[in-house]
Amino acid sequence: MKKIQMVDLKGQYQHIKEQVNTSIENIIENTSFINGPEVHQFQKDLEEYLGVKHVIPCGNGTDALQIAMMGLGLKPGDEVITADFTFAATVEVIALLNLTPVLVDVDEDTFNINVEAIKAAITPKTKAIVPVHLYGQPANMDEILKIAKEHNLYVIEDNAQAIGASYYSENGTSKKAGTLGDVGATSFFPSKNLGAYGDGGAIFTNNDELAHTIRGIVNHGMYERYHHDVVGVNSRLDSFQAAVLRAKLPFLDAYNTSRRNSAKLYVEGLKENKNVVTPEISGAQDSHVFHQFTIRITNGKRDDLAKVFQENNIPFGIYYPIPLHLQNAYRDDRYEERNFPITNQLVKEVISLPMHTELDNEQIEYITCIINKVV
Ligand SMILES: *Cc1c(COP(=O)(O)O)cnc(C)c1O
Repeated sequence: MKKIQMVDLKGQYQHIKEQVNTSIENIIENTSFINGPEVHQFQKDLEEYLGVKHVIPCGNGTDALQIAMMGLGLKPGDEVITADFTFAATVEVIALLNLTPVLVDVDEDTFNINVEAIKAAITPKTKAIVPVHLYGQPANMDEILKIAKEHNLYVIEDNAQAIGASYYSENGTSKKAGTLGDVGATSFFPSKNLGAYGDGGAIFTNNDELAHTIRGIVNHGMYERYHHDVVGVNSRLDSFQAAVLRAKLPFLDAYNTSRRNSAKLYVEGLKENKNVVTPEISGAQDSHVFHQFTIRITNGKRDDLAKVFQENNIPFGIYYPIPLHLQNAYRDDRYEERNFPITNQLVKEVISLPMHTELDNEQIEYITCIINKVV
């Protein structure tokens, strides 16, 4: 059996090696390191793939979230509601901009932000909701967009884990995750479903005016050379990363299908086990792109399993071991423990299994066998 990896970036490289190497050589020959044609082409390719009017590439996913919030003109003191169970970047940028993060609980079956909890957290100061499409599955956007409309709030999608996922609305239409709200933010961190060979990120929007504002913000607030109209940042996707992403984008759907196939095999191998809850897919097949394949161990043996994985060289992740509302950086007297029952439970139960495009049946069988023995 091949050595099991948590992510396998080398296997993917074999299929795109020629294109990537040629593009990188060209960039060096042309010294078009910054804002080169590769960046522009990738932007166009991604706009077409996502069916969105504007993609604005930037330095990383955290920047993308921050710039999206800056572009919307959110002001210190504005309250922004987001999930308690996510990667810290989501709440970090809210706090950095002196906005007030309001963390709320998530759903037990999808791990995504809970709609009732959003409603309960709205105050006259609330200005935005940030749903995170956790592990690759879009949050309940129909309801979130309804709430946002009713209360006049912006919706900023943290799409770092769900690029390529489709969201099917009640009205029968489908759109790509990240293009449903006012603005979406994504990351091209190497291990994400569309990963570069370094840092990268992008912002998506269908709003022309917002796109224009954001294009200036990523470039020091410049709309005309050396005229700085707003306070901006320096956040760029470099040409090398754009070249890698351009080579990979045509394979994204195939990558996501391959992840879904691995997910199916995991579910099959674990279905008899009463102490393991496998992820629920709440929409159609292509609504989940399995950035992570995260299971819940409900009999208290999660940490025992982690130990056995370690002993057998099976990589795994605990995403995330501590609720954000209990992190020192984000504690707040307003939070009451009784409002976070699900997150408090999930941090003790979740474990993410190896998931990438190069997993084979033998490896999955080996992993599920071990789980069924321990749990
Ligand atoms: C990865 C990730 C980010 C941040 O992306 P970076 O490119 O690492 O800055 C933000 N939110 C979520 C949910 C993520 O998984």
